Amino acid sequence: MKKSILITGGAGFLGSHLCDRFIQEGYKVICMDNLITGKTENIEHHFGNPDFQFIYYDVTNYIHVPGNLDYILHFASPASPVDYLKLPIQTLKVGSLGTHKVLGLAKAKKARILVASTSEVYGDPLIHPQNEDYWGNVNPIGLRGVYDEAKRFQEAMTMAYHRYHGVDTRIVRIFNTYGPRMRLDDGRALPQFVGQALRGEDLTVYGDGSQTRSFCYVSDLVEGIYRLLLSDEVYPVNIGNPEEITILDFAKEILKYIDTPSKIIFKELPADDPKIRQPDITKAKKILNWEPKVSRSEGLKLTIEFFKSTIHGN
Ligand code: UDP
Repeated sequence: MKKSILITGGAGFLGSHLCDRFIQEGYKVICMDNLITGKTENIEHHFGNPDFQFIYYDVTNYIHVPGNLDYILHFASPASPVDYLKLPIQTLKVGSLGTHKVLGLAKAKKARILVASTSEVYGDPLIHPQNEDYWGNVNPIGLRGVYDEAKRFQEAMTMAYHRYHGVDTRIVRIFNTYGPRMRLDDGRALPQFVGQALRGEDLTVYGDGSQTRSFCYVSDLVEGIYRLLLSDEVYPVNIGNPEEITILDFAKEILKYIDTPSKIIFKELPADDPKIRQPDITKAKKILNWEPKVSRSEGLKLTIEFFKSTIHGN
């Protein structure tokens, strides 16, 4: 009997790569998505596969899945600052009501559930790098609050279902991740810079570009999540690439890989934009024997190729 897994947000950037991985591992995959930020193009290569099912659904409502379910991955949520600023209520609802529904489903099916949390739970961090014991520095009423607080609530709800109902839970804290299937218009630094460079427009660095991020290639992230799901760790685990870079240097780096007349221009820094971010992955290394393998140069080349084919349509 094949194991079955429900992946919410399965048509999104990360969700669709997870669908690919679990199909490859021989699971029956149910992909659920309401397509507000996900796209069927990300999963259409599985259509017609009897082990793959797509259900168009908003997981903030009661979820019914017939039959047995072994695992649930809760990845539904707008996840880029531009998306969650455009969709603030949906973001709050999917992190709170949606999490409640999937945890209820996990309890009913006796399924193991892994929820996608984020480095945003650390907010604008006061320690560096961020380890899992840090409680964070979040502005609940700021523009990012809709995402950060929804994800913090999600973690609290997940631990409550674990402690009170004995649900088998996992929590991954995902740091900035990139790769094919990101949306060019999602407003994140990487698709924004690459899109601008490919169109010959100037790259818009916010603030003076001294804020840092640490970018993880998607295949490394998927491997970390796969290992965490199959591990025994109930408490949150950071998954990300600790190689840190300023946003200005990141924009310069992208310009090195693309032949373009584009220059760098500076725009106003959005409110509450974290000044630094770097995962401490000591825990993932120790308990999952995991660390990222793909260098930024390798990952950027693969991602830029994907964006070129998206823009040029081949
Ligand atoms: N950023 C930028 N120019 C852009 C888009 C983003 O300078 O056109 C900056 C943004 O202000 C942040 C960093 O790049 O400091 C990473 O932004 P992203 O939206 O990718 O994710 P975040 O880590 O902020 O959630």
